[in-house]
Amino acid sequence: MSSCNIPTRTSYLVVGAGVFGASAALALARSRPSESIILVDKSLPPRQSASWDCAKVVRADYTDILYARLALEAKNRWRADPLYNRPGLANESSGWVEANRALAAVVNAAAAAGVRLVQANVSALIFDENRVCTGVRYADGQSQLAEHTLLATGAETAQLLVCSDPAFRELHAGNRLTAAGLVTGIAKLKPEEAARFHGAPVFLHAGGSAKVIPPNDMGELKITCDVSFTNTTEVLPGFILSSPPTDPSEDQASLALGMESELARVRHGILGGRSDHAQPKHCYICWDAITPNQNFIISPHPHAENLYLATGGSFHSFKFLPTIGDFIARMIDGSLEKELAERWAWDFVKEEGSNKRMMPARDMAESKA
Ligand SMILES: Cc1cc2nc3c(=O)[nH]c(=O)nc-3n(C[C@H](O)[C@H](O)[C@H](O)COP(=O)(O)OP(=O)(O)OC[C@H]3O[C@@H](n4cnc5c(N)ncnc54)[C@H](O)[C@@H]3O)c2cc1C
Repeated sequence: MSSCNIPTRTSYLVVGAGVFGASAALALARSRPSESIILVDKSLPPRQSASWDCAKVVRADYTDILYARLALEAKNRWRADPLYNRPGLANESSGWVEANRALAAVVNAAAAAGVRLVQANVSALIFDENRVCTGVRYADGQSQLAEHTLLATGAETAQLLVCSDPAFRELHAGNRLTAAGLVTGIAKLKPEEAARFHGAPVFLHAGGSAKVIPPNDMGELKITCDVSFTNTTEVLPGFILSSPPTDPSEDQASLALGMESELARVRHGILGGRSDHAQPKHCYICWDAITPNQNFIISPHPHAENLYLATGGSFHSFKFLPTIGDFIARMIDGSLEKELAERWAWDFVKEEGSNKRMMPARDMAESKA
C-alpha cells in the first residue's frame, strides 16, 4: 500500500494501527459509514507496534474500579463478538489472547468496512496559521489533509509532537507520555514440552517483575521481564525525551542481547531447571507510551483544534481492543461520558496509578552496561 491516489482531504485520518488506532478506525467506519476514513501506519500489518505480539493477557483484576468495569465489558466482547470469538484466538481458561491475529482481524474488518489503509511514515503534523491541525506530512514529502486527525502512535507520540513543531510548546506532551520498553523473549517449545504447559495459567511474579504466558498452538511461550526502562535521547537540539531507538544499529533484537540474562533469570525462576533448554529464539524490546498515572490519554488536544489523541497504553491497554474504539469515536464527536472524558483528559491529574509497578525505573543505557 502507498500514499498514492488517495483523496486530498479525508474526514478522519487515524495515524497508527495498534490497538488504539485499529479499534478507532473500525468504530468510526461502523458509526459513520458515509465518511472517508484513512488508517495509516509505517508498517501494515503493524508488526512494529506494541500491539503486535503472540500473546497478551486479558484480565479484569484491577484495583481501580473504573478499569475493572471496562475490562469486564471488554472481556464480554472478546467472548460474544464473532470478530474476536474465533477458534484459537482467545484462550479463556488461561486468560490470554493471540494479539497479532486479533489485531490483524480488526485492521481487516476496518478495511472491509471502507477504511482506506495507507502504509506511510508520518514525519509531521500540519497546522494552519491558527494552529488548527489540517493533516499530516509523510516522510516522502506528500501530504494528507484531514478534518479530524487522530494520533494513535503509541511510544512515538511524544517525539512526533515535538518534531512536528518545536516552537509550539503547548503542543508537546511534556511529562504526560513517556516511551518505555520491556524485554520480551519467545521460546519455541517441542510438542511434548508445549503439551506439558498447555492450559497452564498466565504466571505473574508476585513482585510484579516478570510474566510467563503459556505456549500457543505453535508452541511459542512468551517471557517478559516487567521492569521497564526509558531511552532518553536528544530528539532535536534542546529537546531531551524518551523515544524508541531509530538507529538501525540499535534495532530491537540486538539491544535485547545484553538483556537476555534477565529473561533467563525469569524463565528459570518461574519454570525451573527443567526449562533450561527452552531458550528464547526471538528476543526483542516492546515499546509503549506510559503516563504518570497509567490512565490512557483519549482526548482532543486542548491547544490544537481538530487534533485528537488515543495513546498512553501504559502496558495494560491491549485487552480493550474490542471496546476502546467506541470510546475514541465518542471522544471525537464530544459525547464521551463525563467520567471517562475526565479520566482520559490531556491534563488529568491523579497521583495513584492503575499499573504503577510498570513505571520506568532505569534507562536503557544502564541496562546495557
Ligand atoms: C511487552 C508488553 C507486554 C504487554 N502485555 C499486555 C498484556 O498482557 N495485556 C494488555 O492488555 N496490554 C499489554 N501491553 C500493553 C499494550 O500492548 C499496549 O498498551 C498497546 O499495544 C499500545 O497500543 P498503541 O496503539 O498505543 O501503540 P502501538 O501498538 O505501538 O501502535 C502504534 C502504531 O503507530 C505506528 N506509528 C508510530 N509512529 C508513526 C509514524 N510517525 N508514522 C506512521 N505510523 C506510526 C507504529 O508503527 C505502530 O504500529 C503490553 C505491552 C508490552 C510492551
